[in-house]
Amino acid sequence: MKAEANVRVEHRGQLLFHVTSQSKEEEFYVCDLSLNRGLGECSCRDWATRCQPRIRAGYAPNDDPHAERINCKHIHACLLWLGKEVVRRTNG
Ligand SMILES: [Zn+2]
Repeated sequence: MKAEANVRVEHRGQLLFHVTSQSKEEEFYVCDLSLNRGLGECSCRDWATRCQPRIRAGYAPNDDPHAERINCKHIHACLLWLGKEVVRRTNG
C-alpha cells in the first residue's frame, strides 16, 4: 500500500477529488471518478499515457497494481478514500 502512503486525498464534492503529493505539497492532480463511465480520469501523466489508452481500447477494470492497470495511483487513492468513507458512515 505504498502508493497511498505518499498522497493526500482532498474531497471536492460528488466524485471530484484533488490528490496532493506529500513530498510536493504545491502539486496536485484532479481526479474525476464520474468520467469514462465511472472508470475515472486523472490529470497526471501516468493516467494520460498509460491508463487512458487502455480504457479507450476497452480494458476492463482490474486490481491495482497490475501490468495492464487502468487506474493511476491517484484514482486508486480516491477509491480507497471512498471505501473508508462508506465504512465510517456505516459504523456511524
Ligand atoms: Zn493520477
